Amino acid sequence: MDAQLRDRWLATAHERLAAAGLRTGAARERVMECLARDAQCLVSVQELMDRLRRDGGGGSQASLYRILDELHGLGLLHRHVLPDGTSRYELALPGTRHHHFVDEASGRVEPFTDPDLERAIATAARRLGLRMTGHEVVITGRRAVTDGRDQGSSADAP
Ligand SMILES: [Zn+2]
Repeated sequence: MDAQLRDRWLATAHERLAAAGLRTGAARERVMECLARDAQCLVSVQELMDRLRRDGGGGSQASLYRILDELHGLGLLHRHVLPDGTSRYELALPGTRHHHFVDEASGRVEPFTDPDLERAIATAARRLGLRMTGHEVVITGRRAVTDGRDQGSSADAP
């Protein structure tokens, strides 16, 4: 967890909520604290719900969805619909862009960055005559190289 990113996102969120004339209620504040900490890369609504409960928060899933919609509407969250049809959220802040790899074997989602990819996308946008305001790349697949062991097992060679 990046504490600087957490604080920057919370400050931005409070500014935008105030600008939109929305008062910060206790429930929304709890959800925002949880997002700032745990949604620096994609989290599912179920994961958020579990973490809120674990932290002694609560609230219904319906109210969580409403708050997520509201924050998404203010441009504070990215919403990704993964190939399995589930929605996941992560913080939207300038300068924190990354892309995702979805491992079809495990369903795990991993962030990645690639400067060559960024250059290629910028070049494509110029060629198409676009003023790019965003882009998103999701690579789905399976790891090409495997030694047949779980990632969690010991790295010691036999
Ligand atoms: Zn991410």
